[in-house]
Amino acid sequence: MLDLHVHLLGHNDREANRENIRAFLDEASKRKLKEIGFADHDYYWDQMNFPLIREVAEDYPHLAVRIGLEAEYRPNEEGRIRHLLEQFPFDFVIGSIHEIDGWIFDIPEEEYMHRKKEADELYSGYFDVVTRAARSGLFTTIGHFDLIKVFGVRPSTDILVLADEALTSVAEHGLVLEVNTNGRYKPVQEFYPEQRLMEEIQRRGINFTFGSDAHCAAVVGRDIDEARQLLRQIGVRSVVGFASLDKVSYPLD
Ligand SMILES: [Zn+2]
Ligand SMILES: [Zn+2]
Repeated sequence: MLDLHVHLLGHNDREANRENIRAFLDEASKRKLKEIGFADHDYYWDQMNFPLIREVAEDYPHLAVRIGLEAEYRPNEEGRIRHLLEQFPFDFVIGSIHEIDGWIFDIPEEEYMHRKKEADELYSGYFDVVTRAARSGLFTTIGHFDLIKVFGVRPSTDILVLADEALTSVAEHGLVLEVNTNGRYKPVQEFYPEQRLMEEIQRRGINFTFGSDAHCAAVVGRDIDEARQLLRQIGVRSVVGFASLDKVSYPLD
């Protein structure tokens, strides 16, 4: 299978050197992945070393090693992201929303704010930004589609209503959504997106990919097999990876 969301640099706690790249590719090989995609946070741009990843990848001919980016989407910063994307021929680009109007909402210190706000407004504010990200034309993928649930706060309105416009934009622009297994290790303790959304994504014909969101080599590919089984159960027959921004299809068997 594939894992198209791993962080070589972690939270900027390690270097993009040979040894660390190998650790990620060794774990991917051990887990029998066919494709792995590096997608470090755009704010560590100066620490990235794409040519070295390409070089080390030559020792792993059985593994498709892709280079992407997890870009922080803010509606007023599309120019900044576009400029970054012009600097390197990326295989894929994840647009992620960790911030609503300057509020970084997914860090533990902000959990209390999730409980103070009106849950439906919290969700609609988040999905508005997701919609804009999908329409920006900058990304191949939207990261952790329902990240706003991270602390387990649930809306009273149906999630399919709250996410409707965002899903429509994702479909219209041919974007891919990941099953991001890392949510299981957050307070909400479930994959992103939740199963009801997965079923709706499938119903709308939007493609899936997989991401562990690993910030260290040891958890590359974590729970991807389970995510694969889950997608199969809801009738998904293939997922996609990326090469030079083009989708590459992988049957789920
Ligand atoms: Zn993220
Ligand atoms: Zn990430």
